[in-house]
Amino acid sequence: MVDLVGQYEGLKSQINSSFSEILDSAAFINGPHVHSFQKELEAYLDIKHVIPCANGTDALQICMMGLGLQPGDEVITADFTFAATVEVIALLGLTPVLVDVEPDTFNIDVAAIKRAITPKTKAIVPVHLFGQCAEMDAIMELAEAYDLYVIEDNAQAIGANYTSKTGKKQKSGTIGHVASTSFFPSKNLGCYGDGGAIFTNDDELAHIIRGIVNHGMYKRYHHDVVGVNSRLDTLQAAVLSAKLKKLDVYNSKRREAARKYSKAFMGHEHIIVPKASKGCEGICDSCDCHVFHQYTLQITNGKRDALVAHLNTKNIPCGVYYPIPLHRQKAYVDERYNEDDFKVTNKLVDEVISLPMHTELDDEQINFIKTTVLSFINA
Ligand SMILES: *Cc1c(COP(=O)(O)O)cnc(C)c1O
Repeated sequence: MVDLVGQYEGLKSQINSSFSEILDSAAFINGPHVHSFQKELEAYLDIKHVIPCANGTDALQICMMGLGLQPGDEVITADFTFAATVEVIALLGLTPVLVDVEPDTFNIDVAAIKRAITPKTKAIVPVHLFGQCAEMDAIMELAEAYDLYVIEDNAQAIGANYTSKTGKKQKSGTIGHVASTSFFPSKNLGCYGDGGAIFTNDDELAHIIRGIVNHGMYKRYHHDVVGVNSRLDTLQAAVLSAKLKKLDVYNSKRREAARKYSKAFMGHEHIIVPKASKGCEGICDSCDCHVFHQYTLQITNGKRDALVAHLNTKNIPCGVYYPIPLHRQKAYVDERYNEDDFKVTNKLVDEVISLPMHTELDDEQINFIKTTVLSFINA
């Protein structure tokens, strides 16, 4: 699905020399690379505060702790996402409220958010799934009207742009009150282990969060709040610094691969290509709204599982993200949920398939994948 070895080839001398410098200095925790990466990412995103941490799941949890959410508070998020999003809500004793997604972009359905709001609702967590922003204009309007926090789960969309209806272009993860991201190796900006970060423009929240990631300390050995230990280590920061410089190039390579896939599959009676929210059908010729963390097709003739099996026999990696809706996962079932409220997610879990998507795909690979998929579906 990804080719991190191929990508490393292009970064080898830079990363190896940073690593040997770090090994020589033994500054493994809080070394200078951590601070410089933080500053570089703040500049790239055009945001006031980036707070690095240990992984994307911690980042989400720390956002919720920083906002002071309390047990019993309801947090609305998407039914169709990676479990980390709902896991941290439950872990903090908050009440997860799952809602359905849009059939074309796979992102949280704003009308469904609105229906789920109660007097206990405190926050919305839109997940920018597969690489493009949820409908942030509408989500921010709802949040304003109902006095809710918006925590963007930006683990899959770093580098994507969101153009609001006023025409203002902003990076994903800089629109809500706070955002989390993950630097897991296969993410669009990935390190060589675990890593994550929190973004915010709110000075006070940033201060609170900087203490939370460091055992609730604002002054050495004074623990004012219950915190966690969540750090990005120096070696990972050095990798991220090197890769951040290439993030836009990497994301345009992904878009280019997506464009080639979509041109082959578009209009097929049994295949739906990913649609970008701005209506460019995933072709993204001139826009940068989608960074294709995943390239995800819908197979509508009931042959999705057979296609997965077929691609496996041809040694073509593929993935089903996600095969089970969160509302049906044992850990998150809740008698308040009604199957009729999850029509889209219930259908997507049976139809989606993600094809190989990374920065090193060449035409030969893409052509082989395209022809293999099409000849199977047409057979
Ligand atoms: C990867 C991911 C996370 C979690 O990130 P980790 O760094 O693996 O903890 C959270 N949310 C979404 C949507 C993700 O894709």
